[in-house]
Amino acid sequence: APLTPASFLDRAAAVFADRTAIVDGDRRLTYREFHRRVGRVTGVLESLGVGAGDRVAALCANSHVMLELHSAVPVHGSVLVPLNIRLSERELTYILSHSGAAVLIATVEFADRARAVGEAVGVRVLVAGEVDGRDEYEELLARADEPVRREPEERGLLAINYTSGTTGRPKGVMYHHRGAYLQSLAMAHHAGLGPATNYLWTLPMFHCDGWCFTWAVTAAGGTHVCLRAIDPGQIWRHLTEDGITHFSAAPTVLTMIAEDPTARRLDRTVAAGTGGAPPSPALLSRMTRLGIDVTHLYGMTETFGPIVVNQWQPEWDGGTDDDRAVRSARQGIGNIASGRVRVVAGDGTDVAADGETTGELLVRGNIVMLGYYRDPDATAAASQDSWLRTGDIAVMHPDGYVEIQDRSKDVIISGGENIASVEIERVLDAHPDVVESAVVGRADERWGEVPVAYVTVRAGARVSTDDLLDHVRRELARFKVPKEIVFADLPKTSTGKIQKNVLRTRSRTPNP
Ligand code: ATP
Ligand code: MG
Repeated sequence: APLTPASFLDRAAAVFADRTAIVDGDRRLTYREFHRRVGRVTGVLESLGVGAGDRVAALCANSHVMLELHSAVPVHGSVLVPLNIRLSERELTYILSHSGAAVLIATVEFADRARAVGEAVGVRVLVAGEVDGRDEYEELLARADEPVRREPEERGLLAINYTSGTTGRPKGVMYHHRGAYLQSLAMAHHAGLGPATNYLWTLPMFHCDGWCFTWAVTAAGGTHVCLRAIDPGQIWRHLTEDGITHFSAAPTVLTMIAEDPTARRLDRTVAAGTGGAPPSPALLSRMTRLGIDVTHLYGMTETFGPIVVNQWQPEWDGGTDDDRAVRSARQGIGNIASGRVRVVAGDGTDVAADGETTGELLVRGNIVMLGYYRDPDATAAASQDSWLRTGDIAVMHPDGYVEIQDRSKDVIISGGENIASVEIERVLDAHPDVVESAVVGRADERWGEVPVAYVTVRAGARVSTDDLLDHVRRELARFKVPKEIVFADLPKTSTGKIQKNVLRTRSRTPNP
């Protein structure tokens, strides 16, 4: 049988029939019920005129609906296009028309926006949840036709997942069944998911193709606990009262969790994954002190999520052989999904595996996308022979451990020296008064570029820019010390990523 994530639910329904699959507010579904509803959703899609290969866009909160679509669309043989719920109407309109969606399914929170963009693009909108006493999704499900099932090609188009648009326009990453299947199993294995898993959905499900947890938790027979909106107080209630065993969140959300007034040390350990942007070691240590064991993952939309585990810990520099063995074993995620990585210099040859020489990280294997949808130029630019160019800078350690340094666009070249912006941010973030920071390069006649730091400090903190400069001087070489520190709120994308391109533009305009 072809390797497809559509098969996970069949097995779960057979093996874990009476276990709770989904908790979404007051609604609880067993695996048997989940499976039955998914069959009905395939019938609904068919009755809406959605055919094989047609795109089904979803503007959904973390909910049973989004989980149903993640399983139903691959079974049905159509193509899921998960939409970021925080995008503006203009951005949503762009993605809907670029993907050529046949239908847009929205949960009730987004009914109005879905109708507005649906009308603009001329797409049929289906709302799940009660509007004026009616729930169209449930009505259609209740009278759905026979389930529809199409056997996929393993390398057939499964979903189109748009990138965060941190560096420009979002690109439509084309996923295939085999990659999602293998990545899901790799995640389940790596995170130790099983039938006793209670997975809290703090990570948005629209992003989860990237992380594959929508399928991984199902494959393991665990329970999906849906969190419809990010609320750190609510997250703490779930962690302390609901027996949550796992969750994943972007570093910005971890910061919110750590800063929440109800934060307190858990009396057991909860496993969490983070990635998408570099979390500071200071943040990881804070989480550990709260009883949350964070695994730091690196990956991108183009690779179905995590490629490598980048669990950088200060004590591992010069740590014991055991530490290094654990470090490398934890990094094996890409291998499970048959991925290969290389770090190469500008001429395409591998850099020395000395833990110091930097190069671009390349990836190959089952976890690499088919290409960018309707964008052959961007697809060609992202490939080098049969390897995917990540655009990220890394070093290779002698034991094969890959350490991510920075986006190549964010590396600052000053007086001929390459400075990873992340290195300066780590030092700034370790200051007790700093909440978060971002360092960008500003053009400079003498040095080419110089680092400029944007810093958000804790409310009521009395720290001055000079204090912070002294703090950095104690830790880093002189050429890495920012030429300027600006106190500011940091501009972010809708996925919570700091927009350094915005800061770079801002840094060119001298401060009044
Ligand atoms: P776009 O490609 O549209 O500009 P994006 O690259 O931010 O947006 P994603 O695919 O969501 O979109 O993010 C992947 C990128 O995020 C990686 O290429 C890398 O630059 C960064 N990233 C992800 N995880 C980490 C991490 N653990 N540490 C540092 N950077 C990370
Ligand atoms: Mg990218």
